[in-house]
Amino acid sequence: MKTAELFKHKTVFSLEVFPPKPGADEGVIYKTLDGLSDICPDFISVTYGAGGGKNGSSTIKIASDIKYRYGVESAAHLPCIGLSREQAKDILDTMKSKGIENILALRGDIPQGEVKKGDFEHASDLIIFIKENYDFNILAACYPEAHPESASRADDIRRLKYKVDCGADQLITQLFLDNSYFYDFRERTAIAGIEAPIEAGIMPVTNKRQIERMVALCGVKLPRKFMRMLERFEYNETALRDAGIAYAIDQIADLITQGADGIHLYTMNDPYVAKRIYDAVHNLICANSLVS
Ligand code: FAD
Repeated sequence: MKTAELFKHKTVFSLEVFPPKPGADEGVIYKTLDGLSDICPDFISVTYGAGGGKNGSSTIKIASDIKYRYGVESAAHLPCIGLSREQAKDILDTMKSKGIENILALRGDIPQGEVKKGDFEHASDLIIFIKENYDFNILAACYPEAHPESASRADDIRRLKYKVDCGADQLITQLFLDNSYFYDFRERTAIAGIEAPIEAGIMPVTNKRQIERMVALCGVKLPRKFMRMLERFEYNETALRDAGIAYAIDQIADLITQGADGIHLYTMNDPYVAKRIYDAVHNLICANSLVS
């Protein structure tokens, strides 16, 4: 099923998982998926290491298994940085042969110290390539606080509009910890004429190292309320985990109330945290669906 169809009928709720690191026990991801099986997501997306990542084949296998073993629709991520057109074609042909219908088309982060090379410079180049050669449903990334490399927020929206015009059918945001960024972003996308549905990407922050990494990588801003939570509970693992879960639930409840098209939960492969969040919000998601 092409997941963009879902937005016509409901508030979409999706999950994201990542494959085991190369060399790690491949079976671990199936424990994660078993643990997530009490949740009824609309789809589960699987990340893919940039630069022709070594875990690419496991991304494809996991995305296919989610669909055919677990009976849940899936989406495979595909970062294009460093790929030649031939490599992209091989990967996309394999995805198609494994029954995958949804691709999250990305540029990928530029590896440190390496110069960009390959046939694709931006995610939009990959989207054009996919549209010309395949019939996949295309998801793309967007950034409520603007992508860190963007010249300005206005420029970021212009590039996003172009990405959608090239063929992105639906969008998923980078994580954010202050919903006002999302509402402001949604308004600016509407003004720019971007009509693709936008899922809000929510990451439950359950340890301090995790958020430090995200700040360094994506430049996400930390609101005062969030900083207070970190300061108060950083030395109490269980309390910080519970506070992080509560924070994510609060964000999601507000987003659904304000009519977000969907919620994409970055599970960090932690079924316990994902399940607690799902249990707290699934009635809200369903109630909202009935109204629309
Ligand atoms: P682009 O859309 O190409 O944008 C990158 C930058 O270039 C932006 O500043 C944009 O404004 C600018 N730009 C875009 N088009 C043009 C143009 N035509 N001319 C000039 N400038 C332009 N990374 C992974 O490696 N693997 C994953 O699985 C993965 N999953 C992700 C999932 C989500 C939901 C998100 C939000 C991000 C994910 N990422 C992943 C990270 C992502 O690859 C990085 O954020 C990357 O830096 C940008 O990717 P993009 O697809 O948004 O790039």
